[in-house]
Amino acid sequence: KKQGKDQLAVFEPAMRESFQKHLELEADLRRAVLRHEFELRFQPIVRLRTEEISGLEALVRWQHPERGMIPPLEFIPLAEETGLIVPIGEWVLREACRQAARWNAQRQDGTPLTVSVNLSAVQLDRADLPRLVESALADSGLPARCLIIELTESLLVDHRPETLRRLQEIKALGVRLAIDDFGTGYSSLAYLRNFPVDIIKIDKSFVDDIGDLPAAAALTLGIIQLGQALQLSTVAEGIEDAGQLSELAGGNCELGQGYYFAEPLTTAAMDNLLFPNPPPAG
Ligand code: C2E
Ligand code: MG
Ligand code: MG
Ligand code: MG
Repeated sequence: KKQGKDQLAVFEPAMRESFQKHLELEADLRRAVLRHEFELRFQPIVRLRTEEISGLEALVRWQHPERGMIPPLEFIPLAEETGLIVPIGEWVLREACRQAARWNAQRQDGTPLTVSVNLSAVQLDRADLPRLVESALADSGLPARCLIIELTESLLVDHRPETLRRLQEIKALGVRLAIDDFGTGYSSLAYLRNFPVDIIKIDKSFVDDIGDLPAAAALTLGIIQLGQALQLSTVAEGIEDAGQLSELAGGNCELGQGYYFAEPLTTAAMDNLLFPNPPPAG
């Protein structure tokens, strides 16, 4: 009993501190929604054969007034737990569509850029999601074929019965669906048969090891071929060097993103990338 008490004395302050931090962050997150402290970054998605930009992935950031930029993995779980992901996710979707429509209007040449938006399971649990997507498209003027919704494998495996219907409604608008972080979640591929997906995003962990581990290379090529057999596009995530690019392009992976091409960029940096300033006249 005495030992147990000692242990409590050791662990209690640390536990209380982390609980306190959690509560603080939750209060901050509620305030952040009211004060619009979120920003988007856009990472180019590139056609691997030509290296031309085919689309952008919108990635949320939290500009905390004291703590600075907080990455999504540090607040999305809390946002999901508290339901705050619903207003945050709505803002992300509307803002991503608005920016993509603006960039496409400014581009005279080529096919319009796509924009990819990540959705949480919590957002798919809402009956009004298809209407939200429809309204984000209508308000921004972005054509539905330019929007891609990214979902994780776990969301598709543990789905509620209504999820499939909701995704079909979204697909009926003309929006495409991508499976994010493919290969990390579950070994079951059954959901590829049941869900109307268009795009597979090969997780960065496969790409990381492609040059060093023959098994990683074989799995990556296998996923690309699986995509081709199902007539799905494949996007490789986290390409960081030329060796990875040539392996993937050689294996006929259609698209890719990663620091080798560009990090997630601010709206202003993306403006400069898409529309390089012409040299001053004279
Ligand atoms: P994700 O959707 O798989 O996004 C790709 C992540 O990989 C991004 O991290 C991106 O910055 C990072 N990345 C891209 N290329 C490279 C590379 O070459 N090397 C390395 N080391 N990293 C690379 P980020 O922005 O921190 O986002 C992390 C995750 O947070 C995302 O993973 C996504 O699951 C989630 N997320 C981001 N924005 C949203 C959002 O608006 N809503 C929801 N529900 N989730 C979001
Ligand atoms: Mg994603
Ligand atoms: Mg991803
Ligand atoms: Mg990922």
